[in-house]
Amino acid sequence: MLRTTSAMTDSTHKFRQTKIVITLGPATESEEILERLIVGGVDVARLNMAHANHDWTRMIIRRIREISQRVGREIAIMMDIKGPEIRTGDVEAPLELKMGEEFDFTVRPGGESGQSPEEIRSVGVNYENLVDDISVGDIVLVDNGLMRFEVTDKIDGRRIRCKVLIDGQLTSRRHINLPGVKVNLPAFTEKDRRDTLVGIEEGIDFVALSFVREASDITTLRDFLLDNDSKARIIAKIEDQSAIQNLDEIIHTCDALMVARGDLGIECPLEELPVIQRRALKACYDRGRAVIIATHMLESMIDSPVPTRAEITDVANAVYEEADCVMLSGETTIGKYPEQSVQTLDRIARRIEEEGDHAFDDPALLEGEKINVLKSAVLLANQTKNSSLLTFTRRGFIATSLAALRPAHAPIFAMTNSVTTLRQMRLLRAVNPYVMPLTSDPNDTIENAIRLLKREGLVEAGAKLIVVTDILSHDRLVDSVQLRTVR
Ligand code: PEP
Repeated sequence: MLRTTSAMTDSTHKFRQTKIVITLGPATESEEILERLIVGGVDVARLNMAHANHDWTRMIIRRIREISQRVGREIAIMMDIKGPEIRTGDVEAPLELKMGEEFDFTVRPGGESGQSPEEIRSVGVNYENLVDDISVGDIVLVDNGLMRFEVTDKIDGRRIRCKVLIDGQLTSRRHINLPGVKVNLPAFTEKDRRDTLVGIEEGIDFVALSFVREASDITTLRDFLLDNDSKARIIAKIEDQSAIQNLDEIIHTCDALMVARGDLGIECPLEELPVIQRRALKACYDRGRAVIIATHMLESMIDSPVPTRAEITDVANAVYEEADCVMLSGETTIGKYPEQSVQTLDRIARRIEEEGDHAFDDPALLEGEKINVLKSAVLLANQTKNSSLLTFTRRGFIATSLAALRPAHAPIFAMTNSVTTLRQMRLLRAVNPYVMPLTSDPNDTIENAIRLLKREGLVEAGAKLIVVTDILSHDRLVDSVQLRTVR
């Protein structure tokens, strides 16, 4: 049976517009902590498949669902699949590399390491096309950009020679970034397929596709989801320069976007990062796609109960820019203060939302008659004190468009008859989703929704509701915007 989200939980976080995504790990996987986080207002739980095995994945999804049912607050689950990865092989002992030293990267199937014939030290790489795809003068970054190399020569079909630009210690199986290099790897790997199948079996709500380079990467995943009867929506993670070049077509093809600032900050010049963030936000806003700002939002809270002043401002900036979601990673996977991190996001978001400045002008690309009706509803809500928007949606599209129109203060109550749609709407800025039956009589449905909102303590007598719905007129359904006062 469909359950309604309980009043207790949602009225306690009445009504943060910015949604909170957290990544789960040892710091947050216990029943007690998960329950407190779900009740406390987390909207989306992210499973990072770079670190999760299938037993853990099944266990944690079932745990989230069970707790959500028990406390009456369903949240969304995002499976973040790893995508293609280039990495170094094993080294017997850590290699101390000095600035100016020559060093080789050698393509080897298993990626294991050794020494080049010229007695230059070398590490294995698991990327078959490395030598073809890279050019002399390109940069190789290892271990999340901690070590930097410049390519000086291509020795043979399997080996590149580099000069160490920033020295450091090289240990086994380190992540490699090749900024600006058009990498020729499958977008959706065998591991991704196996992981996604587990996610589909367990009923995940979103798949986040890592290292999306072009729209066809998303289409490949979409076909896979359709072939396997999954309704999961796709979040495109933009993490490198190809994604930035193809941003518009990626946004057009995905359901939502994640600005994955961890890899993006390695793949792009660092001063470009805020420019890319703002451009991606604006482009998503124009297309009516939800957008998540991710990584290092409160990084210092991995070890400290309070954030740095710069982190506070970074979170505030994402809220000022009207992102749909802000996301935590290490803070909630291995951090010492996962709950304080969530509370910190919550406090900053609420405070900045009070300021109510509109970041951008109206979405440029959302057009059509239906959107004009929704725009008039948002305009009415903006001009009506103490108002909320109320709508009805089976698959979440009206709620997505209303959220994209960024009402200045009105929460959007989105009623659906589907728990899956409810969970997927958790990603949308300002949308508060509830489950209820949608009857064939629009007027009954509105009355039932108002009763539900009152019963749950979400609106009081005298409150204004801007209702966006279809009504029957001479046996035809027509769009309507109604202003109702709750009695
Ligand atoms: C990122 O790079 O910012 C990110 C979110 O991706 P991942 O954590 O998968 O590296």
